[in-house]
Amino acid sequence: MGERQPLYEGKAKIIYPGPDTGTLVQYFKDDATAFNARKKDVITGKGVLNNFISEHIMNRLGAAGVTTHFIERMNEREQLIRALEIIPVEVVVRNVAAGSICPRLGLTEGDDLPSTLVEFCLKDDALGDPIIAREHILTFGWANAGEFDVMVAETHRINTLLTDIFAAINVRLIDFKLEFGRPADGSGGLMLADEISPDNCRLWQVGTDEKMDKDRFRRDLGGLTEAYQEIARRLGVTIPQAF
Ligand code: UDP
Repeated sequence: MGERQPLYEGKAKIIYPGPDTGTLVQYFKDDATAFNARKKDVITGKGVLNNFISEHIMNRLGAAGVTTHFIERMNEREQLIRALEIIPVEVVVRNVAAGSICPRLGLTEGDDLPSTLVEFCLKDDALGDPIIAREHILTFGWANAGEFDVMVAETHRINTLLTDIFAAINVRLIDFKLEFGRPADGSGGLMLADEISPDNCRLWQVGTDEKMDKDRFRRDLGGLTEAYQEIARRLGVTIPQAF
């Protein structure tokens, strides 16, 4: 079999053409990056863990009525997904202060926010994913007003669902990042894209606030694989042993 040509390679995933029109294959790499890729490493098995965890979460969101790009997991590293035109906006949801909002607004990590905060960043590594407002999204046409409203409403619904999913396994959902897209063939409305995994959520153990997410890598805490495995185990996700 000849080498497949990637359509796109990101920091943690590679996108290949799918078997059918309107589909793509999303391959999960073991690469870990932080601080806009100034910090890099390879963590063996991380891609497998994120593939299985994200499959589980996407299926649960789908069962609750959220439209997602996820079709099925193909193997340990790959998912079949709907081909979307990705809206170049990262939607960040914050329930508790952590990460970049702390230095930006003078908050202390762990502070409760008065209510759930939804922020938007432009998906542009060269610019360092700058924070943007609704006005930027509409002015530059990254999404129209209707799409923006759907994106925000879906985001709040997903936050409620995810908060409950993690609370049920004794984990606090501190913050996370979502991406949305529209079907490339023009059919249907916005869909949730990308992945939902401990790479793009902050997850803290109830009671101790021990970090069970990518902050273990960002902050050199060690034990990232063990933490992701523990999240998978509690969710009831079986991960193949030999990765
Ligand atoms: N996040 C992400 N990709 C990004 C930026 C943020 O998945 O490019 C996630 C991150 O894992 C965290 C949330 O979004 O769960 C908020 O991240 P923050 O803005 O605090 O940035 P970071 O700490 O990654 O610099």
